[in-house]
Amino acid sequence: MMYYSLQQQAPEVSFKEAALRGIAPDRGLYFPRQIPRFSDEFWRDLPKKDFLESAQELMQVFTGDSIPYLKLREILERTLSFEFPLIPLEDSISVLELFHGPTMAFKDVGATFMAGCLGYFSGQTDLKTVVLVATSGDTGGAVARGFLNVPGVEVVILYPKDKVSDIQERQLTTLGANIRALRVQGTFDDCQAMVKRAFQDPVLFENQALTSANSINIARWLPQMLYYVRAVQQLPPEAAPPVFSVPSGNFGNLCAGLLASRMGMPAGHFIAATNSNDTIPRYMESRHYDPHPAVASLSNAMDVADPSNFVRILELFENDFQKLGSKLSAYSFTDAQTLKAMETLFNAFKYTADPHGAVGYLGLVRYLEDHPDRTGIFLETAHPIKFRETVETCLDLELELPMQIRGLLDREKVFSDIGTYEELREALR
Ligand SMILES: *Cc1c(COP(=O)(O)O)cnc(C)c1O
Repeated sequence: MMYYSLQQQAPEVSFKEAALRGIAPDRGLYFPRQIPRFSDEFWRDLPKKDFLESAQELMQVFTGDSIPYLKLREILERTLSFEFPLIPLEDSISVLELFHGPTMAFKDVGATFMAGCLGYFSGQTDLKTVVLVATSGDTGGAVARGFLNVPGVEVVILYPKDKVSDIQERQLTTLGANIRALRVQGTFDDCQAMVKRAFQDPVLFENQALTSANSINIARWLPQMLYYVRAVQQLPPEAAPPVFSVPSGNFGNLCAGLLASRMGMPAGHFIAATNSNDTIPRYMESRHYDPHPAVASLSNAMDVADPSNFVRILELFENDFQKLGSKLSAYSFTDAQTLKAMETLFNAFKYTADPHGAVGYLGLVRYLEDHPDRTGIFLETAHPIKFRETVETCLDLELELPMQIRGLLDREKVFSDIGTYEELREALR
């Protein structure tokens, strides 16, 4: 499979090169040249098949010659080593839990897959690989964990000061080894802007390969389609194609679901559920792309004003607004609505949701109001413990500490403070 740049000003590259570069030299995002449609039998037989086997068939198409069969198998085994349970809450609403991985947020899958790929590629070269990543909260921890002790790879994480939760900060500052954390005076969008600038800086490419582990990287973006496949696999055989409601920030996860649907996976509709950072819901309404500055919310991993992956969604629909609108709806919700939804989920279903999952639930409920004949799935993207204070205060309860978190709380945070691009540059040289 070859990948082209969405800016159309750079050569096509293999999976390996696209994963190592992160972003194309013309600053475009890479996009697969073909999106093959898998047969109806493939999707019909899915519930009977081994999930790992199906995942291999799907991902092999995208990794192509860059990764041999058995190596891909090994990477996928590590990536999919935990469950993605689909839990019915009522007849028309189920929740897909994506937080059972090592850092308890859905980004574990993308980060682990990417780490496996880069670990394999770095074994083929003498050049040091530096992975640079900006995080709004959960990416940093998942990337740190995924890449810890991967030989030949060094990881640098940028996160916005005072805008991530204590547990999130611990997850990305306490591992040491080949993982470095930089605390940035600014917002997530500032962190992301610095990362983008670094990729335009020739000095930083002099004696090292520099790549990004944000969902702009295809190795992180593509494997996320497997969540949706796993959800469909768990549905009862006679179930109608489900509506998926996806709490969205940078729109990588949603875009991966839309990709699976293009490959023939049964899906009735998709919903982009956002917090007050509502660039896309406004765009779907007005067709006018007009990002406002990011505002802080309770679902901080989605505090993104200018979502990187939205251009990929437009490309999937050939920039045809009509087509896009027939498959995607977008709604935004305030923090007050989010807290109310967390209460509703708890009182009506005894379900403890984190603020991101609650936004997903709100999106689904909104859509079902107008489409009462449909059934849907909302994605719960983080374990409630990652937003402990918000959840405990809202629901007036004390959460149990999961095993993955317990060891973190007494480890020391190690980071450097930076405020400008020049400081980042210095840290990377
Ligand atoms: C990253 C993240 C999101 C947003 O996912 P995108 O792919 O950036 O849209 C939602 N919820 C949680 C918990 C996250 O960590």
